[in-house]
Amino acid sequence: MKIELYPKNILEALWKKDKKWFSDGNGQRPVCLRCGNPLNDRLMVNSLSRHAKIYICQQCGSDEAMRDYGKAVMPFENWYGISDKRFQELQKSKNPMLTTRCAFLEIFQNPDDDKNTRKRPDSEISYSRSDYDGYRWWTTWFHCQQEPTPENLSKEIDRFQNALFCMPEFKTLGTMQNLCTFAEPVGDSEFNLYSETLHLYIWIRMLTQPRNYNLYIHYYKK
Ligand SMILES: [Zn+2]
Repeated sequence: MKIELYPKNILEALWKKDKKWFSDGNGQRPVCLRCGNPLNDRLMVNSLSRHAKIYICQQCGSDEAMRDYGKAVMPFENWYGISDKRFQELQKSKNPMLTTRCAFLEIFQNPDDDKNTRKRPDSEISYSRSDYDGYRWWTTWFHCQQEPTPENLSKEIDRFQNALFCMPEFKTLGTMQNLCTFAEPVGDSEFNLYSETLHLYIWIRMLTQPRNYNLYIHYYKK
């Protein structure tokens, strides 16, 4: 299993196609995937994005630098490339994606519950809690159901969990903190991402303060 970061990894795949123009000159000159303006026809005159393996136009390069300085990074969801027809095609990948949009909000909703004492959804199978000690992740598992987890589901959970920790973004606490720039913020040091697999909804909760539990991954049966 390979997990993709939506929409960053799809934009990068789009750029891989666009980049060929600079060596073979076939087809249309690519536009900047960040703003839609034409790229300079000499690759190196454009700017390598600070946040993705994509060359963007010079203006976008300066804008990124300014925004980084002001800690107001433009979300990938606002990039021009999202509206590219080819983006929709590439999006049909079968790999699970990490996104900032929760597609399963209804499992949390119970109007009688106070937000702070919100009940664990009945569909929660298990969750993991991890902390980073400066060298590696330490993970503890919590089982939420009375019955043991069916084998196909526990395999699906294992595969997702392993694939997540193989992502460069989850290599260390530092790389996870960088990823949080593009996650859904809850507070200054708390961020969410969401995913799903065939039988599971997955909520990834990231806490960026060191010497804390930094990562909770909740698995819910669909
Ligand atoms: Zn641009």
